[in-house]
Amino acid sequence: MIALAGAQLGYQAVTFCESDEEPATHVCKNSIIAPYEDRAAQEKFISLVDVITFEFENVPADIAAYLDANAIVRPSPGILKIAQDRILEKSFLNNIGIETAPWEPITDLTYTSKIIEKTGPKSIFKTARFGYDGKGQEKVGTKEELDAAWLAAGSVPAIVEGFVDFQCEISVIIARDTEGNTKCFDVVENIHSNHILDKTIAPARVESQIAEAATEVAVKIASALSLVGLIAVEMFVTKDKRIIVNEIAPRPHNSGHWTIDACITSQFEQLVRVVCGLPLGSTQRHSNALMQNLVGEDAERWHEVIANNENKLHLYGKKTVRSGRKMGHVTRLLPLSPDWQNQDIELAMSVMRPPT
Ligand code: AMP
Repeated sequence: MIALAGAQLGYQAVTFCESDEEPATHVCKNSIIAPYEDRAAQEKFISLVDVITFEFENVPADIAAYLDANAIVRPSPGILKIAQDRILEKSFLNNIGIETAPWEPITDLTYTSKIIEKTGPKSIFKTARFGYDGKGQEKVGTKEELDAAWLAAGSVPAIVEGFVDFQCEISVIIARDTEGNTKCFDVVENIHSNHILDKTIAPARVESQIAEAATEVAVKIASALSLVGLIAVEMFVTKDKRIIVNEIAPRPHNSGHWTIDACITSQFEQLVRVVCGLPLGSTQRHSNALMQNLVGEDAERWHEVIANNENKLHLYGKKTVRSGRKMGHVTRLLPLSPDWQNQDIELAMSVMRPPT
């Protein structure tokens, strides 16, 4: 989707990925298919491109740093490194005064009984690295459960965090350019199913003060990181109206896919603009939007989705359907409404995913 947005601005993209099944290979001028660690492939890649970005957090940060020494990588590999590790990420957020769920790092079993006392009986164990869509996570309520989760995860660095009894989950996508100018997309509401994003509602059905505060949090994070690029900030809104940051992702985000159809500039075009040193585009939303992910087998019934001509279908062309794998999404545009709370969102959503 980044390559497609770039093509609309006349750019040609080269993708560096580890498998020829990656959807980006379908739409890029050139593809380098090799393990990320392959130095010859890195050199070839550098020789073909002017600027580099990433759409996946698990690109090794040291390789991004090598590429950055020989080309321009945006966002910077230092930001990628923070986002890859929950210990670095939460420490960074707390150090700049941003609230997260109460959390503690775990690197051995010495203090786990004290830790679980602090984070509570409904805690969540998360590996520090390589976790997304609920991977590497487990509910834990006792020292024994925490110890077992850590051992089962291979005794890798991890955190345990308190469960947040949230009113809703929201996210903000912000772009910051080389001059330090920022632009945010509207705050959206995210509904998860089995820890995987299921639906995004744009804009979020929250009070304007909450939306403003969430946007301020995103600006604070982007500025503190000296971001040049795009970042998504995932947050919880608590029942007593506090904003708690869950995680940051320095790349286009699934909760921003609606921007392709509902905004003057999509999140993908915005990233291309920043990475190429162009001015930021308008993030104005011309419609309200609902986004429904097509996960796993949902996508096999795409013909039912496309048969309804109010649905805008996006399929990623992934060859293999796997349970929990994001295969595509559907967007539905609705009129801009000052009274979005009362729109029949459920009704609209019900025809966006084929019934099982
Ligand atoms: P994560 O991989 O950390 O983004 O978590 C995926 C999803 O799990 C989040 O979007 C939430 O729905 C849920 N989740 C993660 N951490 C917590 C928490 N501390 N309290 C409540 N729900 C959580």
